[in-house]
Amino acid sequence: MMVDIPSPDQRRRNILHWLQESQSLTIEELVSRLGVSIMTVHRDLDQLVKEGIAQKTYGRVALVRPVQENPSAAPLCAMCHTPVSFHTAFTLHLENSQQLQACCPHCGLMLLSMTDQVASALTRDFLYHRMVNVMKAAYVVESRVHLCCVPSTLCFASLEDAQDFARGFGGLVMDFEAASAYLSAQHHHAKMR
Ligand SMILES: [Zn+2]
Ligand SMILES: [Zn+2]
Repeated sequence: MMVDIPSPDQRRRNILHWLQESQSLTIEELVSRLGVSIMTVHRDLDQLVKEGIAQKTYGRVALVRPVQENPSAAPLCAMCHTPVSFHTAFTLHLENSQQLQACCPHCGLMLLSMTDQVASALTRDFLYHRMVNVMKAAYVVESRVHLCCVPSTLCFASLEDAQDFARGFGGLVMDFEAASAYLSAQHHHAKMR
């Protein structure tokens, strides 16, 4: 049986492909996948390291990541166009089965107040990251904790948690209606100036 020895270029292409699939690989794994010596694997990797594409740690290799991990994958906030992060995402499900996302409860409440035909709206509890129906949630507005948009607006599944949080970090405890009205008034005020 003929064994095809891949060229150095071919090997580096393979390594890059595998790294994109699985983030990081051991040197051993590469030796067995490529069917070459450990010295050859190290030579191939050194080339990728020199080019700034890969990084070697003890016995492993990984891709060098740009500062922001794959920013194109994160949806953008429908209000302020910053990337939406998992923990603070605020999602509107519309009656036509479309979805709108906001970066945090601040933008989410604003978005909700100007969107028609919303079937449901969910966000995550600030402490436990469980999904919460936004209309039944409690909000702490203007606390010292600023994660995203100003005034800071955090969401809690329980009123007691919101009150305890506000005792420690300041801010006003509000229900859905009050928080929506408060933020709308703030935005209106900002526009008038
Ligand atoms: Zn936003
Ligand atoms: Zn935000």
